[in-house]
Amino acid sequence: MKLSKILALIFFLSFTFNKHISAQDMNDITRYKINYALARKGNNDMATFLSTRSFEINNQKYLLLINPHTFESRIDIASNYSLRSLEWNNVMAIFKNTPYVKSLEAAAAKDIQLQNAGIDHSIPNETGIALTIDLCPSHKPLDRIIFESVFDEFKKSEQPVPVAISVSGKWMLKHEDDLNWLKSLVKKKELNITWVNHTYNHEVNSLPLSENFLLAPGTHLDIEVLENEKLMLKNGLVPSVFFRFPGLVSDKTLVQKVEGYGYIPIGSDAWLAKGQQANAGSIILIHGNGNEEIGVKDFIQLLKSKQADVKNRQWLLFDLRQGLEKEFE
Ligand SMILES: [Zn+2]
Repeated sequence: MKLSKILALIFFLSFTFNKHISAQDMNDITRYKINYALARKGNNDMATFLSTRSFEINNQKYLLLINPHTFESRIDIASNYSLRSLEWNNVMAIFKNTPYVKSLEAAAAKDIQLQNAGIDHSIPNETGIALTIDLCPSHKPLDRIIFESVFDEFKKSEQPVPVAISVSGKWMLKHEDDLNWLKSLVKKKELNITWVNHTYNHEVNSLPLSENFLLAPGTHLDIEVLENEKLMLKNGLVPSVFFRFPGLVSDKTLVQKVEGYGYIPIGSDAWLAKGQQANAGSIILIHGNGNEEIGVKDFIQLLKSKQADVKNRQWLLFDLRQGLEKEFE
């Protein structure tokens, strides 16, 4: 492993949320904006990150930082870094050899299709899957059984168990208890959750896909993307570098715009409720918001069928970040 990567890892190891920031403080976020900058920690040339957002809490400036090698993200105080402002095009150029920019390019290469643009497959030539669970707005409670089953199945072979959760603003607003329950599993080190931006409103209408979800006329992308991030932060969740399109629906322009926010769109090659099968390296999609009984049932069935392989570590759950790092390193 390269020295630069080792140093970068060390800085990201301890806290994704700076320990001095309380959840209470997060209610007072102001001046939240997109702010790309090369962020260097201390005098160390090797520890260089990408800052994607800046904001203030009680007159203190903070950054949302990402590690372009490992895809990890964290919040930290801006004064800990020396900063050089960048345009988005510079970001793509400066970090062009990192797994982050290579993933953005791979996702953009598949931007034409109306459904399932972006990265839809995770780990090449490996046995196991990456699990993504979408929390679209819903009146029903969280399907806790998904998380309990995953933990029960994998606790002997992997702990904490990595899952990616795509969270919408309207789901967070209605499901405080369920969200706290998920956070408690992280605290107990049962789960390692990568939080994926799934937009604030996640509107759906009865029009064809080309005018539905984020492609619906009148969509305000800034609100959908940035307000959801702010709500995630207020709830103590650090936004990852990943974005999931509502309904997996997008077009070329939308993919470009979302990447311009610094996001890698994540699709799925195994939306279980649609009858798609999970293969080695699949990014599985199930909905955990109470609205997709079949998907949840299929997933539990899949877990049962893999029980022996899980035990022998022949079938693993992959962290989306590590999977892509491996693929694009
Ligand atoms: Zn959704």
